[in-house]
Amino acid sequence: MAKLSQINTVKQVNENQCQSCMPLGGVVAFKGIENTMVLVHGSQGCSTYMRLMNVEHYNEPVDIASSALNEKQTIHGGEANLKKALDNVSRVYAPKVIGVLTTCLAETMGEDMDRILRDYRKERVTSGIDIIQVPTPSYGGSHTEGFWAATKAIIAYYARPTEEHKQINIIIPHISPADIREIKRIFDLFGLTYTLLPDYSMTLDRPYGGRYQKIPPGGTQTQDIARMSGARATIQFGLTCPDNLSPGLLLNQEYGVPLYNLPLPIGLQNMDRLVETLEKLSGRSLPDVIRQERGWLLDGMADSHKFNADGRPIVYGEPELVYAFSSICVENGAAPVVIASGTRNSLLMGLLGTLLADVDEHPVVLEETDFAAIDDAGVLTGANIAIGHSGGKFLTERRGIPLVRVGFPIHDRTGGQRVLSAGYTGTLAFLDRFTNALLETKYESYRELRKEEMGIKEGV
Ligand code: SF4
Repeated sequence: MAKLSQINTVKQVNENQCQSCMPLGGVVAFKGIENTMVLVHGSQGCSTYMRLMNVEHYNEPVDIASSALNEKQTIHGGEANLKKALDNVSRVYAPKVIGVLTTCLAETMGEDMDRILRDYRKERVTSGIDIIQVPTPSYGGSHTEGFWAATKAIIAYYARPTEEHKQINIIIPHISPADIREIKRIFDLFGLTYTLLPDYSMTLDRPYGGRYQKIPPGGTQTQDIARMSGARATIQFGLTCPDNLSPGLLLNQEYGVPLYNLPLPIGLQNMDRLVETLEKLSGRSLPDVIRQERGWLLDGMADSHKFNADGRPIVYGEPELVYAFSSICVENGAAPVVIASGTRNSLLMGLLGTLLADVDEHPVVLEETDFAAIDDAGVLTGANIAIGHSGGKFLTERRGIPLVRVGFPIHDRTGGQRVLSAGYTGTLAFLDRFTNALLETKYESYRELRKEEMGIKEGV
């Protein structure tokens, strides 16, 4: 295992954070459940921020309700506001599920959420509406932890002992709707039936047409979630998911569902691992169409490897994506020089140690970091390309480092919801974007570099 130059950059002041806040991740997870509305218990600004981030990334209307706490409730408690908000959400949206996420404020006030919601259920007629509460103070984690915590809470709420059946559970981290659709296509090609959780591939990426609906159709059905406890196996794309937040581990420990905890199928070797697992579970060999896609990826890797050797990438973002994109970089000869995440994740550190065991130059690894530290590390290591969400646009603006946008949020470009990186096809699409970004910089600057090398001065 490689020794990483691991740097913990916890500071008093965060300059351009690398992560989003914890309830935001919970919002995305709840948007993947059929007929669900989300209510954020806190001040108005929190839900406005989360709505804005989601709307700009997914380019869809994303409703998030708020209990709108102000200074009075901060002192006297927000119970009345929360109950009123639940009444309003029930009346206006008529959901089947309400996901209630707390904010930093509600948690700091010490709101007794269990007691408030217990009383609410007794006082009001809420028959037919499931209220699922998840504690998500942002000082307790980033949107990554919020996503896992909400997904686990949803399973814990619905899963019941049930008869064994042949379906597979698929549990995903926060990836794009395009990636969700690609993962489903791959499972379909192997002839496997499954329940994918949380499935926001339609709710957060609607095809054009039809009438506006307050809660868009789509999402994992609650009766399917209830049956996840009887599945043949769970495939969870969550190598970096901590045990205490792991939905797949819950199903394994409480219901005995075998857990295959795999890396995201982004990158040749990561996708090969998924294929091996699907061959085993389905009893089928690789479908021809996927074999061809693998061949095209290998061809693309051969085409681009001579350019990628010049790449000195910074990879940053959510741990699961950071591991997947670092894997692509390593297998394509462009080992990352900086690897960074806004969250602290010891599992990611262990994985990177193994992944980078044979690289010549060990990267700077930053945990709980911000873009000021990433920028400094980029300069120090001579980085010339970056992979991550729109937060890293400063690297382009300040240093001229091109940014290949992946992850969440992508708010300064269109199509964040359509960025495809999963499967052999998605990996190739990413690789082309990465290689072309390197070539663009090369062709923009090679005349100047050549002049410098030959000692030619400007105007001569
Ligand atoms: S106060 Fe906390 S919950 Fe609200 S937006 Fe800020 S980090 Fe998120």
